[in-house]
Amino acid sequence: MKILSLHTDYIKFRPLKKALKSVDTLSPEDKEEKHVEEALAIMTAVEKHDTNISEVVKKLVEEIQDIAEKVNVKNIVLYPYAHLSSNLASPEIAIEILEKAEAELKKFFNVSRAPFGYYKEFEMKVKGHPLSELSREIIISGDETAETYDPKQLLREISKSKLDSSKLKPNDHRIIGQQMDLFSFNETAPGMVFWHNNGLIIRNGLIDFWREVHKKAGYQEISTPQILDKKLWQISGHWEKYKDNIFLTNYEKREFAVKPMNCPGGMLVYKNRPKSYKELPLKVGELGVVHRMELSGTLGGLFRVIQFTQDDAHIFCTEKQIEQEVENALDLLALVYSKFDFNVDHVELSTRPEKRIGSDKIWDISERVLEKVLTKKKMNFKINPGDGAFYGPKIDFHVKDSLGRNWQCGTFQLDFAMPERFELEYTDKDNQKKRPVMIHRVIYGSLERFLGVLIESTNGRLPTWLAPVQVRVLNFTDRNQEYAQRIFEQLKQRIPNLRIEEDFRQTTIPSKVKDAEIMRVPYIIVVGDKEEKENNLAVRVRGSKEIQTFSLDEFVSKLKKEIDGRV
Ligand SMILES: [Zn+2]
Repeated sequence: MKILSLHTDYIKFRPLKKALKSVDTLSPEDKEEKHVEEALAIMTAVEKHDTNISEVVKKLVEEIQDIAEKVNVKNIVLYPYAHLSSNLASPEIAIEILEKAEAELKKFFNVSRAPFGYYKEFEMKVKGHPLSELSREIIISGDETAETYDPKQLLREISKSKLDSSKLKPNDHRIIGQQMDLFSFNETAPGMVFWHNNGLIIRNGLIDFWREVHKKAGYQEISTPQILDKKLWQISGHWEKYKDNIFLTNYEKREFAVKPMNCPGGMLVYKNRPKSYKELPLKVGELGVVHRMELSGTLGGLFRVIQFTQDDAHIFCTEKQIEQEVENALDLLALVYSKFDFNVDHVELSTRPEKRIGSDKIWDISERVLEKVLTKKKMNFKINPGDGAFYGPKIDFHVKDSLGRNWQCGTFQLDFAMPERFELEYTDKDNQKKRPVMIHRVIYGSLERFLGVLIESTNGRLPTWLAPVQVRVLNFTDRNQEYAQRIFEQLKQRIPNLRIEEDFRQTTIPSKVKDAEIMRVPYIIVVGDKEEKENNLAVRVRGSKEIQTFSLDEFVSKLKKEIDGRV
């Protein structure tokens, strides 16, 4: 129910003729003009969802009492006013509510009620103080919507859909992901990953490494909002190109886009403060979560998702700095890939398309620069003539994983358009305002996809620094538990961040080893009588049947080396 309360010097009204056939004919007395001085006129519209009549009446009376007390009036006029809502209740219910409210209000006030279902002429003089016009909505909880649903039924509908592994290869990352408890998907969020603790450890490991090498390479890091006004996407040009893939939302009658890429946010950060040539090249990274609409039928595990994290970076520089910056970015890419045994197989250089912006001169320069750097770095590259974006040429890196499969991960893209569209500037040595050139670049590409490739290419046997569980300690029998516990505590103490677990269940060693192998634990320490007597560790190194013996010191230094050195 909606009400509009008006504090008046006076209100007068007179019914003219029936607006609704169904309402009763008025008595001669009721047909006369009413005139009420110093009244609170309550304009009312009873709505469809006001089905709980006694509750609505109760709340309406409370609201009126509250307002009347604030403005100190004794005279109330209940005035049916259908225009307050486009979702009106039936006349019977509306009349019942108004009659009951009138009876209740009469206990405290002088109440008049204007007839329901009649065209009326009316006149009033509203006092103009701050409380003289108040609108309220009366909602009885549970009645906000007419929707009916059964939460239990809904729960059944969304309940976890089982992974159908019958058509997947055994090293499919979805199968390994389930075995190692890394992540899951749910149909309530298509193409969006639910990271479990173990998966998040790997993801965070990739991020920590990324941050470390980027900091060393002189990058700053920023983070920009997830949803941004549609205007921004129209300025950037994404609106025309990507409109169909953008999730939209509304806020206070403004249209917003859930970001499909990070660049525009980055432009606003650049523009926030005037820039000098001394700050260039300016390298700014952002691990941005982006959303792109894809048809649900095309989604597949981590390889094709709707929500993903881009390891984006934008390098703002002068034309002269392009060559050096592309070279630096290439070195960084090679360094990152080397940690995962990924080798760049070949590079594709896409050049100017027919429809493009920017002068031929700048296209000449940038294509030549990219070619020069690729040649200098002895990269195996091929040219895709005309395949560049309208705003600049790009290079795509195709890597080969340990199974010999090819993946496109990293991309570098020169951009003349975005700085133009956002009117980016810097002040040069000669005090002139100039426009920087921009390089967009990703190395992992999508963190989710990269992780999927990594899981498949290693069959889940991640390097020690990334493994969710790095060491597991097993005891042969209960007799060895105390010593095994001591080994566990000592390792934890010596390497505080070590991800170590114990398995002292009363089951056989082969079954404990099997469980640890499913989790792809790099080092399984087995403690039996012999180890206890000789005070050393029998270590089963992942992937080999052989048992190696270490002293505690030797094992600690081996682990530290692998974790700190990221091997
Ligand atoms: Zn970008």
